[in-house]
Amino acid sequence: MKELHILNLGAGVQSTTLYLMFLRGVLQPQIDYAIFADTGEEPTPVYRHLEWLQSLNGPRILVRSIGRLGEDLKHGRNSTGQRFASIPAYTTDEPGSPKGMIRRQCTKEYKLDVIEQTIRHEIVGLKPRQWFPRDEVHVRQYLGISFDEAGRAARVRLRFAEVPWATPLFPLIERQITRAMCQQRLKAFGVPHEVPRSACVFCPYRSNDEWRWLRDNDPTGFQRAVEIDVALRTPGNVVNRNLDQKLYVHRSCVPLAEAFIEKKESFRDQTFMGFYQECNGLCGN
Ligand code: SF4
Repeated sequence: MKELHILNLGAGVQSTTLYLMFLRGVLQPQIDYAIFADTGEEPTPVYRHLEWLQSLNGPRILVRSIGRLGEDLKHGRNSTGQRFASIPAYTTDEPGSPKGMIRRQCTKEYKLDVIEQTIRHEIVGLKPRQWFPRDEVHVRQYLGISFDEAGRAARVRLRFAEVPWATPLFPLIERQITRAMCQQRLKAFGVPHEVPRSACVFCPYRSNDEWRWLRDNDPTGFQRAVEIDVALRTPGNVVNRNLDQKLYVHRSCVPLAEAFIEKKESFRDQTFMGFYQECNGLCGN
């Protein structure tokens, strides 16, 4: 039985820590590949960080994409031209008073499926619709979920229960390594910049701290978020057709350009709302 060792690389704090632990031999056996599923919408500092990771000449990093998520949203289609894949936008019929959130489909389509297709076709060499040779090849997939997010691992395990040819592994949880400990390790590994949290610039899973960070560190990315936020409410757009409620990327349900992002949120609120989760090719909440 051939074993393949693959890292889901989101290029955020946790998955970068794993990549560097493999690179330095702290984790073994060595991975064969790291896969970065690119939505085409990450902040510029994430792409710069990804380039830095690639410059280390460690295990090969495959950057793969099925399309630019924001463009597909604006045009009301998904990556295959079907109905659009929704992002977890906030909804309300009363601006300023959030009522709910729509279902998230973007992670599966633009990240999970991209990683799976890369493994099936590019790495294992299967043709479209060919059965996975589960008696010959098994994939050990490493996921950057830290000890403080252990609840997510249960959901990932459930998803993997339907994938007989792959086993999910959580080295950070096994070693009780938290996100804060990852940040310490990144410093110890000599990363010469702060590793940003990876997420699409318009991802609604963002705290005010993170909106301010985006505005101050990637003004172009922040403008892109404003553009997509407006597109979500433009009358006649497919993305909001048949919806009684309006969609917003900021949780206050105010247009992002006007949202009071200076408002402080407690750490408890931020973690409760899931803002510290890294959408790095993992299954969603
Ligand atoms: S970062 Fe947010 S918007 Fe982007 S794919 Fe993940 S959940 Fe969707």
